[in-house]
Amino acid sequence: MSAARDSNGQRPRVLILGAGFGGIGATHELKDSEVDVVLVDQHDYHTFQPLLYQVATGLLEQPAVGHPIRDLVHKQENARVHQDTVTGLDLDAREARFSELEPLTYDYLVFGLGAEVNFFGVDGAQEHAFPLYTLADAVRLKDHVLQKWEAADRKPDLIDDGALHVVVVGGGPTGIETAGALAELYHGVFTKDYPDVTGEQARITLVEAGPELFPMFKPDIRAYTEEALAKRDVEVLTGEVVESITPTRVTLKSGTELKAHTLVWGAGLQGNQLVQSLGLDLERGNRIGVDQELRIPSHPEVYAVGDVAAITDQKTSQVLPQLGSVALQAGEHAGETIARKVAGKETKPFKYRDKGTMATIGRGSAVVQMLGGRTMKGKAASMAWGTVHLALLPTNEDRAKAVVDWAGAGFTHQRAARITVET
Ligand SMILES: Cc1cc2nc3c(=O)[nH]c(=O)nc-3n(C[C@H](O)[C@H](O)[C@H](O)COP(=O)(O)OP(=O)(O)OC[C@H]3O[C@@H](n4cnc5c(N)ncnc54)[C@H](O)[C@@H]3O)c2cc1C
Repeated sequence: MSAARDSNGQRPRVLILGAGFGGIGATHELKDSEVDVVLVDQHDYHTFQPLLYQVATGLLEQPAVGHPIRDLVHKQENARVHQDTVTGLDLDAREARFSELEPLTYDYLVFGLGAEVNFFGVDGAQEHAFPLYTLADAVRLKDHVLQKWEAADRKPDLIDDGALHVVVVGGGPTGIETAGALAELYHGVFTKDYPDVTGEQARITLVEAGPELFPMFKPDIRAYTEEALAKRDVEVLTGEVVESITPTRVTLKSGTELKAHTLVWGAGLQGNQLVQSLGLDLERGNRIGVDQELRIPSHPEVYAVGDVAAITDQKTSQVLPQLGSVALQAGEHAGETIARKVAGKETKPFKYRDKGTMATIGRGSAVVQMLGGRTMKGKAASMAWGTVHLALLPTNEDRAKAVVDWAGAGFTHQRAARITVET
């Protein structure tokens, strides 16, 4: 019998909440450990968020960014998966509660429930904005956009009322990637689908509250991005704050009213709302502060990973950004640390291996900034983006499929997934 078993012969239970990059990374690292892993997620699929904008713009179909969670633990005998919503967590009692499952206690917990959209209280945003954080969000936006074009085709008067005008809020990676992809869809594909609509009638406007786009990047990247967006006819408004949203109008604090039937929200995130009930002092953006081993200091058996955690980088002393690579590496570190503890081995602090900050703007157009400050732009940066993001995909089959999908889309410029299916 392993030394890790308790007096009843039970192996330690590791409860993993959330099957995102963090939760899956932790689960896989515990594969050979003498523990029972229980992984719970509200969905039956793992979402590859970096490509949501491609689902929203008809470039990829849903299974390309949503992978069955059960498939990811097929080869892991010590793991069980449940689809359910986590409704509460009692850190002192070491117990999680769910919508339908019986409450579960744990010896170790990996908390990886991710983040959620922050509308910053903007009037009408909750009801009328289109966020892009989940697979359901992406499908909803795609269907909405397709419906707007079909409606405008039937009743061209709607175009003057803003039916084909999309306002994208947020000058960070989500907003810029979405604006670029929508512009390529609107001005490349839709102008062929709907020959009676002229390019100027279909508008994409990107609104950013700060003085510039991509504040986290160096000036040469910002200049390149502005040029790449202009080339795609994206209108950029900086220093403008959205005040209110209705289904057909976007009002800015400056008083400008934009006629637009679609507003995409890419402006902000906050840690999963469940963290507010944990009785912890939270960091900026509702994130849980962790120590160098990614544990919650007051509850060292609990590891917080990914978007929900505020992890301070040892090298830069800055809080790491909410990125897939941070979440995956943190999840893997938490899993490895638990495995080492159970095996009675020494543990190590978390060290983030920075692969660079990057974003795509459109086909063949991306930007990368390495840790030392070196930058890349254009096709070379697109290749780097592809390489880093292929590594984040959960299986080799997904990687092979992504290479075929991306190459196919690159050659044909087709958006095969631009259909709506009634449910
Ligand atoms: C549009 C977009 C584009 C992005 N692009 C990039 C990019 O190009 N490169 C990059 O590195 N990163 C990118 N990111 C960020 C990256 O996707 C996130 O940092 C990463 O997904 C965080 O992983 P996570 O495991 O912390 O959380 P998530 O991946 O969000 O996983 C959390 C999981 O918890 C589950 N969950 C949540 N609440 C509950 C509940 N109450 N009960 C049960 N389950 C629950 C969810 O279903 C989900 O599966 C992007 C994000 C978005 C939204």
